[in-house]
Amino acid sequence: MTKKPVIDIKNICHYYGKGSLKRQILFDINLEIYAGEIVIMTGPSGSGKTTLLSLIGGLRSVQEGSLKFLGEELSGASQSKLVEIRRNIGYIFQAHNLLGFLNARQNVQMAVELNKEISKQHAINKSEAMLQAVGLEDRINYFPDNLSGGQKQRIAIARALVNHPPLVLADEPTAALDKQSGRDVVEIMQTLAKEQGTSILLVTHDNRILDIADRILEMEDGHLARNSQSTVKIIHN
Ligand code: ADP
Ligand code: MG
Repeated sequence: MTKKPVIDIKNICHYYGKGSLKRQILFDINLEIYAGEIVIMTGPSGSGKTTLLSLIGGLRSVQEGSLKFLGEELSGASQSKLVEIRRNIGYIFQAHNLLGFLNARQNVQMAVELNKEISKQHAINKSEAMLQAVGLEDRINYFPDNLSGGQKQRIAIARALVNHPPLVLADEPTAALDKQSGRDVVEIMQTLAKEQGTSILLVTHDNRILDIADRILEMEDGHLARNSQSTVKIIHN
């Protein structure tokens, strides 16, 4: 295969604490994610999923091993390089992290305006189009407090995808949602990601959404294993 991965992780180890309190959290992680792939990571609480996501997202410095985003090494990268890399990643968290004093459109627009070359009108148009894509065209001027959990999470998706990033990282995005809203939210992510060719790495405990994945990984005590479900081949005679 000659295609370059969006994410290329080799032998990542990670530790928290110092001296006698130092504890290893991630053990020799190896992972490649290709353009347009939807990868779901499951695993018990405390197994290291969020730690790995924050390393990939450039939110935490790499201690050991190599982590490349679109061929760029994050290990040893400067703060300004990390800031630049973060601009190319969409983040969706369990708590939607919207700003309460901005309406739906303004929350999305904020992400567009990180790019100083885009005019205000263009930013508004892009934000409204994205809110339409997640089915919130009639909620554009609503403030987060007046929207349901599912609607807020859809704004977060619009914000994460509005700049067409090559990668979206989602940490338990359906955890605070009821069954149907959770399902709706991941299906919107799936559709948009496929349209845009975006790769998604999604951490979840939610067994009901595993079917949207191209590949399922399992984290256990800091070790990453391919989930047997995704490698089992059913042979029809
Ligand atoms: P998960 O997302 O799978 O629940 P985390 O990556 O959040 O796992 O945590 C993995 C382990 O690292 C847990 O034992 C947790 O308590 C510990 N941990 C997480 N963040 C920190 C931190 N900032 N400092 C020290 N220990 C941490
Ligand atoms: Mg976590």
